[in-house]
Amino acid sequence: MQDWTEINPLHLSRVEKKAWLLPQLNQLTQLHSENCERYANILNGTGLPLVASEFDDVPYLAARLFKLLRLSSVEEGDVFKTLTSSGTTSQVKSQIVLDKQTASLQTKVLVKLLSSITGKSRRPMLLVDRQGLTNDKSGFSARGAGVQGLSFLGRDHTYALNEDLTPNWERIDQFIEKYKGQSVLIFGFTFMVWQYFVTELLNRGDRSLFDNAILFHSGGWKKLQDKAVDNHTFKSTTREILGESAAIHNFYGMVEQIGSVFVECSHGHLHASAYSDIIIRNQNTLEPAAFGEQGQIQVMSFIPRSYPGHSILTEDLGRLLGEDDCSCGWKGCYFEVIGRLPKTEIRGCSDVF
Ligand SMILES: [Zn+2]
Repeated sequence: MQDWTEINPLHLSRVEKKAWLLPQLNQLTQLHSENCERYANILNGTGLPLVASEFDDVPYLAARLFKLLRLSSVEEGDVFKTLTSSGTTSQVKSQIVLDKQTASLQTKVLVKLLSSITGKSRRPMLLVDRQGLTNDKSGFSARGAGVQGLSFLGRDHTYALNEDLTPNWERIDQFIEKYKGQSVLIFGFTFMVWQYFVTELLNRGDRSLFDNAILFHSGGWKKLQDKAVDNHTFKSTTREILGESAAIHNFYGMVEQIGSVFVECSHGHLHASAYSDIIIRNQNTLEPAAFGEQGQIQVMSFIPRSYPGHSILTEDLGRLLGEDDCSCGWKGCYFEVIGRLPKTEIRGCSDVF
């Protein structure tokens, strides 16, 4: 079996991917059923075999189960970090148990995937967030983990925001001064990039700041839809600021399967890399949906070893657009995220396994 580090993550065809990824997923089903009693009990209840012969048959857990249960496949003493989903205090947060091995693998895989887009050399990096974010010892947030994971891709890390999320103009201006017209890397959460960075620079009159800038941004569109900002508006306005040659990549992921990241290509489609896969399931029957049919998004990843999160049915709705033939040149399933499952349709975890 090929080692994951030798794989070109966005250029593996379906057949090669199945030969590589499916055995990894089967191993994880086995590992978690041996080490996580709660997972083993759920699995027994379904009567599904431990070894799947197709991606569709890999057992999955409902994402909301991680809000209800602490699911761990490691001894308490080996827990390195417990990640919590962001959200308001009134909501119950997901708890994701990481040991050192899983945390380190997640970072390495993310860097390997994204550096296949940015190239090997580390670019100057502007983080659209506040500086103290990754130092919060009390409860390591998914946002902090995201920023820390991505910081490996760049150098001269500059945090663009103050503690109160206003722009830190002194730092922003120093960064612009130093790297004007060069290729830089920018990362932030979609809403924050729009609200606290792009809008502010637009109002100040900044235009065409860099050459070949790359922006990665992640997080839901809900808050931006409320402001009537869609992906197209987001991109065109951001290009005005960063420069026409800027590459802007949204990505889709979730705390329950952190490290599993789906990146938007130059044609605006989210792709599954060689390290992860996606299945769309009809939201009523939970059977795999055809290309173009809307359904619930299931995500799969070879990364989660410390908790049974290698195959998760999310509460997001999406649509598969195709596989291995996107005109951008990347391989993998490509898809779009449509929104969240309406609350009334979320089933109890006993009937969604
Ligand atoms: Zn594409």
